[in-house]
Amino acid sequence: MSQHPIGRRAAQRVTVGGIAIGGGAPVAVQSMTNTDTADIAATTRQVFELAQAGSELVRITVNTSEAAAAVPRIRARLDAMGCNVPLIGDFHYNGHRLLTEFPECAQVLAKYRINPGNVGKNRTGEDQFATMIAVARQHGKPVRIGVNWGSLDQKLVVRMMDENARLPQPADVADVTREALIVSALDSAKRAEELGLPHDHIVLSCKVSEVQDLIAVYRELARRCDYPLHLGLTEAGMGSKGIVASTAALAVLLQEGIGDTIRVSLTPEPGGDRTQEVVVAQEILQTMGLRAFAPMVTACPGCGRTTSTMFQELAQSIQNHLRAQMPLWRKQYSGVEEMTVAVMGCIVNGPGESKLANIGISLPGTGESPAAPVYVDGEKTVTLRGDNIAQEFQKIVDEYVARKYSKR
Ligand code: SF4
Repeated sequence: MSQHPIGRRAAQRVTVGGIAIGGGAPVAVQSMTNTDTADIAATTRQVFELAQAGSELVRITVNTSEAAAAVPRIRARLDAMGCNVPLIGDFHYNGHRLLTEFPECAQVLAKYRINPGNVGKNRTGEDQFATMIAVARQHGKPVRIGVNWGSLDQKLVVRMMDENARLPQPADVADVTREALIVSALDSAKRAEELGLPHDHIVLSCKVSEVQDLIAVYRELARRCDYPLHLGLTEAGMGSKGIVASTAALAVLLQEGIGDTIRVSLTPEPGGDRTQEVVVAQEILQTMGLRAFAPMVTACPGCGRTTSTMFQELAQSIQNHLRAQMPLWRKQYSGVEEMTVAVMGCIVNGPGESKLANIGISLPGTGESPAAPVYVDGEKTVTLRGDNIAQEFQKIVDEYVARKYSKR
């Protein structure tokens, strides 16, 4: 797949546990666990799964002494499993205390997320913020100043609303609230630098839950600073609503070159797979031509010419197979993530799409002979028949990968 030359905003580069963010680095995919961090086994397992799915940074909640004590043990277990994904600690209210009382936790985390709206009020809040920045400096860690619509510093909002009300022509309340988000992030970053945190140790985010608000806030934030920006629509929701809202917001900003890391905040279905948020984030970047993570399957939607569910089942099984193989293929093969596979329901568009893909198959539509022509690199190589078309096609794909992308 060709990578599209979208111009990127020039942002300062920040390195988080060996992963570069900003400064022209590829847009990084982040995710967050939803396990109790004090549950070492469950959190280790989920971080591992998220990393296997392709998450390049994983954030974990650090909210209690038990959670802070668990962090070094989670790190050690991941290292023993050969998983070196950087862990980011998410702190609210008591981060100053946890980071100072648990120095090992502070040391093994690759970055701290600090929410300026949740560090405490007035002088106490300033002191607690300063403590967290001091710990970050001591351990040489970067910080994300992560402002959130739902926990915005209310004192700042009230002050800005009062100032606005005194203007001859007051701005819209929504505009003032958006401006408060930006001011909170920029002022906190400025304060962190005054406290000695290097400029290239700061990432910013201003998460909101409405698409148009997110776009407006990040455009302005991008204009006013050169810190790398972490993008995400907070509380995006479940299922297709969460995916569509996140994609709509992130795609507009990414197209404008805004965003250095992304997270898709999906609410999993009960018992659902947390790694879905990683897959969606990767697919946003890949379908936009910004990065490639896993081979893409082009499939037609099917129509009245599709005689059975066989073509849907084949498209799904090939897609699942390709993604399941990626943790292994990433190590063995080079460039396999750029491969395209077409699975088409009949010969109307089947051969055309198949020729455009690395490998393509057209299943027989209504009234067509029960044969499935396969194209490899634009040439028809074989016609599959019978009950084992899916298995035989998968074998052709695997052999193609081994032949074409082998590192040796
Ligand atoms: S390729 Fe064939 S089955 Fe698929 S949508 Fe087009 S006409 Fe229908």
